[in-house]
Amino acid sequence: MTETWQQALDALKTRLDPVQFETWLSPIRLAEGPEGTLTLEVPDEFFARWVRDNYLDMIKDAIWDTARCHLGIHFRVRQAQAASDHPTEKGPTSEPPPREPADGLGERLVPWFTFENFVVGPSNEVAHSACEMVAENPARTYNPLFIYGGVGLGKTHLIQSVGHAVLHRFPGMRILYMSGETYVNEVMTAYKNDRLDVLRHRYRGQCDVLLVDDIQYLSGRDFPQDEFFHTFNELYNAQKQIVMTGDQFPSAIPKFSDRLRSRFGWGLIVDVAPPEPELRMDILRRKAAREGIDVPEEVIAYLANRFPSSVRDLEGALNRVTAHALIRKVPLTLDLAARVTERIVTDRRGRLTSDLVLRTVADYFQLHVSDLKSARRHRGVSLPRQIAAYLLRKHTGASLQAIGQVLGGRSHTTVLAALTRIEKVMALEPTAERAIKDIERQIGV
Ligand code: ADP
Ligand code: MG
Repeated sequence: MTETWQQALDALKTRLDPVQFETWLSPIRLAEGPEGTLTLEVPDEFFARWVRDNYLDMIKDAIWDTARCHLGIHFRVRQAQAASDHPTEKGPTSEPPPREPADGLGERLVPWFTFENFVVGPSNEVAHSACEMVAENPARTYNPLFIYGGVGLGKTHLIQSVGHAVLHRFPGMRILYMSGETYVNEVMTAYKNDRLDVLRHRYRGQCDVLLVDDIQYLSGRDFPQDEFFHTFNELYNAQKQIVMTGDQFPSAIPKFSDRLRSRFGWGLIVDVAPPEPELRMDILRRKAAREGIDVPEEVIAYLANRFPSSVRDLEGALNRVTAHALIRKVPLTLDLAARVTERIVTDRRGRLTSDLVLRTVADYFQLHVSDLKSARRHRGVSLPRQIAAYLLRKHTGASLQAIGQVLGGRSHTTVLAALTRIEKVMALEPTAERAIKDIERQIGV
């Protein structure tokens, strides 16, 4: 194990920039653990979370590249520190292992999407208590329960909390959780492989609580809607609980059959609204406490004020600010928060601005934004420029012409050529693909 880890580290060292490596890989120690797994000791929970979110894939790749094996990777928080710094939190290793969905259908629940970790305020209290009641008494109160609301307001967190709470309270109950997207894929795959009867048996005959997140994915998909209609009826008639989330009130979701829409309203429809200022501050305080980070109250207030419309953005901003403080080893001040979040600008539709994309790409390659806009054709500039074009296309939804404008007045055919080129480069050069992923991670998409 020691050798495997050392080789992987050597590989990672060549792939990561030195600051990243020193900050996130060097502090990791190999520890004793179960056979066939790599147990890595880290300083604290925040660290574990960060490494898991940002470097786990790279670590796995490095192990595969150097040792040609797949190892389970566990993080363990170094003992002394865990005890003194985080008295209220269980370490990540003590989280219950995520439940494997039986027979490969459905999805796993995210371990921390529980009622305990959900902060309640006026904007979500109705949805929250409806979910709690459903979880206490499945199929005996509101059936179906339909939760709707905008992006990043806690719908997925709530519907998964129902799953956790049911499993906790009624260990024998069979729950099935999936996003609408997964549902559509499963139905279509089963159809192609002539296995619809297996799928139906699982959904209709072996499920006590069905949780479907983002049902709007079924919009315009007649066949999956049809399947869902029959599943819904059978479960409903057998007094099984159904919970769904959607991005709009059922009747407003386009391209849905009326018979389904009306059924969605048979039980209870509740909404989650954008969080109030006080709730935003509470969420930030709780998150900081959970991760054992001291965040000054003025920083909390600043972030809460700066990101009013989505809890996801709010959490993302706090992550970035705390990461900057950690990486640069500077105190977490209002000034730092303002500087770090200055760059996070999304337009009204929640899309990234081209400015942010350009600045992040330029920073990553240690260039100036003006280099990207310049006429220089050296590869050290043209590759970053192509990457910028690719990211602008992917994340801002800008037209080829608009991208050409942003990149120093280039024509749309030039942009198209750049996009074609970068797709090829990505397929051939893992480093280019990695750079793109790193930049996306920095932008927070
Ligand atoms: P949605 O499904 O509505 O788009 P999510 O449930 O994915 O939103 O929430 C986005 C993020 O915000 C998640 O990390 C979630 O844990 C967090 N979050 C949302 N609402 C709350 C809340 N009331 N308390 C704590 N965390 C929340
Ligand atoms: Mg969601």
